[in-house]
Amino acid sequence: MDVSIRNLTKEFRGVQVLRGLDLDIRPGELIALLGPSGSGKTTLLRLIAGLETPSSGTVHFGDEDASHKTVQERHIGFVFQHYALFRHMTVFDNIAFGLKVRPRAQRPSREEIAAKVRELLSLVQLEGLEGRYPTQLSGGQRQRVALARALAIDPNLLLLDEPFGALDAQVRKDLRRWLRELHDKTRHTTVFVTHDQEEALELADRVVIIHEGTIAQVGTPDEVYNEPATPFVYGFLGAVNVLPAHVKGGHVLLEGFETGLVPAKPIGFEGPANLYVRSHDLELSDDRLRSIPGVVQSCRTLAGQFRLEVEIPGRRQPLNVEVSEAALAGRQCPAKGSRVLLQPRRFGVFPRASGEAAPAEWVEPAAPRLVAVS
Ligand code: ADP
Ligand code: MG
Repeated sequence: MDVSIRNLTKEFRGVQVLRGLDLDIRPGELIALLGPSGSGKTTLLRLIAGLETPSSGTVHFGDEDASHKTVQERHIGFVFQHYALFRHMTVFDNIAFGLKVRPRAQRPSREEIAAKVRELLSLVQLEGLEGRYPTQLSGGQRQRVALARALAIDPNLLLLDEPFGALDAQVRKDLRRWLRELHDKTRHTTVFVTHDQEEALELADRVVIIHEGTIAQVGTPDEVYNEPATPFVYGFLGAVNVLPAHVKGGHVLLEGFETGLVPAKPIGFEGPANLYVRSHDLELSDDRLRSIPGVVQSCRTLAGQFRLEVEIPGRRQPLNVEVSEAALAGRQCPAKGSRVLLQPRRFGVFPRASGEAAPAEWVEPAAPRLVAVS
């Protein structure tokens, strides 16, 4: 089932929590809503489900306007972070629940229900546990039962709100992989809410990044990670260094650069800017002309990486640099005090409004020495 969301807003007592969202969810995809706590993810999910009514805007299921349909009419499967299994029911009865409560005319026979439950138990790999009660299961097992229960009604749409949020790290990782495999088999259109970047990037076909009630970016995990559309997305998806810069004639001029950086894609503006570069996109270089000179403050190895802090002129805090040991080809961690040259391999450039302060780490506000483009 495809879902189209148009200009959706939600206010709670005069406070706008969602601000005019547009989103198309494609049939069969697993889409993640990713954002910090309080950004509006659960509210968006509840609007899709029909548990809240929009202040304005519409939600279409296929060609049909679902905005005024009830939860039942929308035919949706749910799983929440906090186990919502019926404690007094066995695993079997929990999974069968959605089928048993159907009106008589639509209710499958007892045998059909039993067959469906067995099929689902096998799908979520809990065969043999149908007689247990929720308290006799681990957290991960309970969430698998919750998923089986949500799938029992063959939902148009599966909505998962931080379903693994209460589980410990290793179980979360296992379930993440398991859910991806399950989705590849069943292809239910699924919306998965999380505040965990790694979870979203590893699990989803597409990621929707929500920031203060707006959609900051929608794209595949590679797209949002490699080409963040806003400074927020840059910072939210990984460690980033921010440097003041100036865009002139399509080049990015930065303190210490003779020729300026040439971005992979044309930049649509001129003037003061901030340059965003991830720690692992800063490379140690021999090229004096195009690099930022710095002095190593510290270097330590961690999980096959060198993590350096490099002091550069004008910056209060050192730049964070991550270099894989492989890239250093057997060299040692550079000692404290060594001079190094850093070259941004990949970076993003965003305009800085006039009057907007330079990045907080800078001693000198927005006054990089500008060197003419060759
Ligand atoms: P998330 O799921 O991303 O953490 P939510 O959608 O739960 O965010 O909440 C977004 C904002 O809306 C928060 O500021 C929250 O306090 C507010 N909010 C959510 N539900 C209600 C409600 N029923 N009444 C008032 N404010 C709410
Ligand atoms: Mg939430």
